[in-house]
Amino acid sequence: MGERLLLHVCCGPCSTSSVERLLAEGYEPVLFFSDSNIFPYEEFMKRYENLLIVARHYGLETILDSWDHGQWLAYVRGHELDREHGERCSLCFRFNLLRAKAKADELGIHKFATTLTVSRFKSSKAIFAQGGDLGGFMEIDFKKKDGFNRSVQLSKELGLYRQDWCGCEFSLRDRDA
Ligand code: SF4
Repeated sequence: MGERLLLHVCCGPCSTSSVERLLAEGYEPVLFFSDSNIFPYEEFMKRYENLLIVARHYGLETILDSWDHGQWLAYVRGHELDREHGERCSLCFRFNLLRAKAKADELGIHKFATTLTVSRFKSSKAIFAQGGDLGGFMEIDFKKKDGFNRSVQLSKELGLYRQDWCGCEFSLRDRDA
């Protein structure tokens, strides 16, 4: 097997092409589902269960982080009314990347990356700005090399659930508005 890399995963669909690319590049991804931003809890578990379909398909280890939504809310406090892609989202990226860094250190894994960069709706530059100072963070832009389209294709093949809002209650509110 290749070098272990902790892959912070936001959801099953985004993990597909990211995992495929990392495997092709010789890594052994360890999947870390750490997404306290997702609301409600049932949605958090639904996304995790879909990640497990991907993990089983590729035969990969998966770690489930606790759902600390209260902590996440405290972290983004004051930004509840921000529009998506604003400061709240930068804080949200930071929150999840800090937890990924802590888990990588705990496991003695020297590199980590995030599937957040697969989404064509998210700026990879904004994500890198939140992880760049964390030792071991790999600035891998998974939407490159046709990563987004490939994730859509693989998600269909695996029959994955694809949500139509980002994750937190504020993005759900904005979707419904
Ligand atoms: S919209 Fe998405 S990225 Fe932004 S704060 Fe909510 S869950 Fe996080």
